[in-house]
This record gives sequence, structure tokens and C-alpha cells, in this order.
Amino acid sequence: MIKTVAVIGAGTMGNGIAHVFAQHGFKVLLVDVNAAQLEKAVATIDKNLSRQVEKNVVTAEQKVLSLNNLSTHTDIADAASKADLIVEAATENIDLKLKIFKQLDEVANPETILASNTSSISITKIASVTKRPEKVIGMHFMNPVPVMKLVEIINGYATDNTITETIVSLSKQLNKVPCVVNDYPGFIANKILMPMINEAIYSLYEGIAGVEAIDTIMKLGMAHPMGPLQLADFIGLDVCLSILNVLYEGFGNTKYAPCPLLVNMVTAGKLGVKSGEGFYIYQAGSKELIVSNRFK
Ligand code: NAD
Repeated sequence: MIKTVAVIGAGTMGNGIAHVFAQHGFKVLLVDVNAAQLEKAVATIDKNLSRQVEKNVVTAEQKVLSLNNLSTHTDIADAASKADLIVEAATENIDLKLKIFKQLDEVANPETILASNTSSISITKIASVTKRPEKVIGMHFMNPVPVMKLVEIINGYATDNTITETIVSLSKQLNKVPCVVNDYPGFIANKILMPMINEAIYSLYEGIAGVEAIDTIMKLGMAHPMGPLQLADFIGLDVCLSILNVLYEGFGNTKYAPCPLLVNMVTAGKLGVKSGEGFYIYQAGSKELIVSNRFK
């Protein structure tokens, strides 16, 4: 029975994951190496819960209960030893994740399930550094976690069926919709999304259409809430490039080769929203979408 959940990493995803578990009655131990990040995460959760109160998604009393379920920690070993489930949402770096899972395996109760929120790193690889590969699984939440309904659940090569069933029913308890997939590069979400984004960038690179035309066609023609170039800016062009490289190397298929324009933009530091410019220009306080001068 899962009652206590440790969330490792209190960044964009970690604070959302902690929020959702706390909101649904679980005790949450939120862990980060950076104490300032923990403070920021709690402030974000408080603000997002207030927004949910305004929208009548939760009551003011539920907000208080949710915050009471949450505690913050910098000692990963101590928090991990108290958890029935650990959801790792630390920085997307394979060496870091392998180090974290080796440590979690050593300090956590042998029954504890170890999950990763990784977007692209092999769950089988992560499981291979532990002595419990059958209890290691992918639990891929989407950003922003309190809003997005999907949880992509990734079975590693050795993941036991009973563990998958536990994580499926747990995801439903969080009022999410779980979808189970097998562990191959990009899983399903990114294996389908990233080639679409890459094709949109290729279409721009080849001069077939401009930024606005490409995004408008996919928004109005396919009912996508955001065009692929705007979505790439939102995700981060460096993140898109890194996932495409995982697909390209993992499948050994040139159909995943990143577009040279994407490579150039990342090399030039044009990473999308987070750097202020990608296919569009982002100005603080403005929601207006302005196409970058480079593509006018
Ligand atoms: P982020 O950079 O916002 O946060 C990462 C956090 O991990 C930071 O606060 C950092 O201090 C912390 N951290 C680093 N090393 C640590 C350690 N040893 N122990 C504890 N904490 C540590 O990153 P993010 O965007 O929240 O991504 C986290 C994970 O979620 C990644 O694996 C990413 O691929 C995945 N993911 C991200 C998104 C997204 O849209 N951002 C979506 C789905 C999945």
C-alpha cells in the first residue's frame, strides 16, 4: 500500500508531481540538492493550489490539507528510506540518474518501487544499476503536471507486471489517465511528437513555408492547440535536439536525424522560450507571438 512518496528533484516537473500526490492525500517528501529550489517549489505549489481554489477544482480546506502533506528535504538517503514509492524527477542527465538510482536502491526499503519521470533515458538502463530491476518503472508525467491528464507508464525490460498494475491504479487515484508502453527510445509520446517537430523544422529549412503558415496549418487544420514550432520553443530546442539524438542513435535510422537548422539554432543559443528566442521572440510580460527576425 503506497502512502508515502519521495519526489527527487524540485524543478518544473518535481514540484508538479509533488503537488498532485499531496493533493490526493499522499505524504510527500520533496527532495532537492538545492535548498533554494525547494523553497521556490513550495511557493509554486502554494500559488498553483490557490489557482485551483479560485477555479473550484479544490476547496480552501483541501489546499491546507495538501500543503500539510508536503515536507521538503535535502538529505536524499533519509527521505528515500521513508518512502513506499520514489519518483525521480532530477535533471535529464544519464550519469546523474544512474548515480541517483544506485543510491536509492541502497537506501530504500527493498519493497519500495523506484520510478523515473525521464523523457528519454532508457528505463532498462536505469534499472540495470539497481538490485531490483523488477521494481523500476517509468512514470512520465506531462508539463504542467496538475493540469495534464496523461501519465505514460514505461515498462523496463525486467519490470514486473504487479508493479505496472500498482502504478496504473496509483495514476488513476491521482485522477490521471495512464497508458502503458514498452521501453524503446522516446517511448511513445516523444517517438511520435519529435519527428513531427523535426519535419516542421525541415519544412521551414527547405523554404516550403514560413513559421506562421506551418504553425497555423497544424493548429487550424489538425486542431492542435499549439503549432509544432511554437511547441518546440516551449519544450526547449536543446531538449528537442537531445531527444531526436536519442531516437537517431537508439534506432540507428536516419529518419530521426535532427534537421541542421535545429542543430544550428541550439549551437547559437536560440533555445526557445527559456532563452527569449527560438522560432518566435519572447518578451517578458507579453503573450504576443512575434516571429523571430531570422525567419521573416
Ligand atoms: P529542472 O531542471 O526544472 O529540475 C531538475 C531539478 O533536479 C533541479 O531543481 C535540480 O536542483 C534537481 N537535482 C539535480 N540533481 C539532483 C540530485 N542529485 N538530487 C536531487 N535533486 C537534484 O528539470 P525538469 O524540467 O523538472 O525535468 C526533470 C525530469 O523530468 C527530467 O528527467 C526531464 O526529462 C523530465 N520531464 C520534463 C518535462 C518538461 O516539460 N520539463 C516533461 C516531462 C518529463
